[in-house]
Amino acid sequence: MHDAKGHRSCEKASCTVRRYGLVRKLINRGIQNAEVIQAFRVIPRHLFVATPFQSQAYDDVPLPIGYDQTISQPYIVALICERLLSNSTARVNVLEIGAGCGYQTALLSQLYDRVVSVERIGPFVNTARERLASLKIENVVLHHADGSEGIQGDETFCAVVLSAAPLAIDSRLLAMLRPEGCLIAPVGPPNNQTLKLIICKNGEVREESQGSVRFVPIVRGTIN
Ligand code: SAH
Repeated sequence: MHDAKGHRSCEKASCTVRRYGLVRKLINRGIQNAEVIQAFRVIPRHLFVATPFQSQAYDDVPLPIGYDQTISQPYIVALICERLLSNSTARVNVLEIGAGCGYQTALLSQLYDRVVSVERIGPFVNTARERLASLKIENVVLHHADGSEGIQGDETFCAVVLSAAPLAIDSRLLAMLRPEGCLIAPVGPPNNQTLKLIICKNGEVREESQGSVRFVPIVRGTIN
């Protein structure tokens, strides 16, 4: 199908076929968690990418979303969700820093009772809110704010996920974790980042490296 501008638009049935194709690829790459797999089957990634990128919506690649930012690669998002779930002792809430287009936010809404997400770019917040509403996702609260030091208030979280990379994890983000919580974040400068998983268990804090990744850097301040 093509729209008036000649872009390939995503007709419903073909999108489902392509989405299931992507899910098969994720499984082939080692994603095993049934809930994560189901979330990827349910959430339509094509709704989170702009018209010129529709034909690539179900390729396992990051894509531009404007403002020099990207929607993350599905495999990396799946890996993050899987690691979070296997290290979350409860699923009451999750904090996401960097909602971007809202795709990972939508996936997290299927995996945790409540999602709090922070995004510094105002137009992203508005679009993500509209997309989540169109999917009738009601367990997400999106804030337009700088989340590099966490969020205001005293809510603590079962899990925290950063979608943009700091040079080091801010201790105020770690302080937002519940006693048995976990945090996952890309850490390091643009060409040398590691995906770090921090697990709090039995009063101890353990750190595991999940391999090399490439994320946009975390930036301070907000854009309206
Ligand atoms: N998970 C998102 C990733 C978007 S890219 C997706 O798949 O679409 C990372 C996002 O982090 C960008 O939207 C960027 O604006 C946001 N970001 C960067 N620094 C931030 C900060 N200090 N506070 C909140 N959001 C931030």
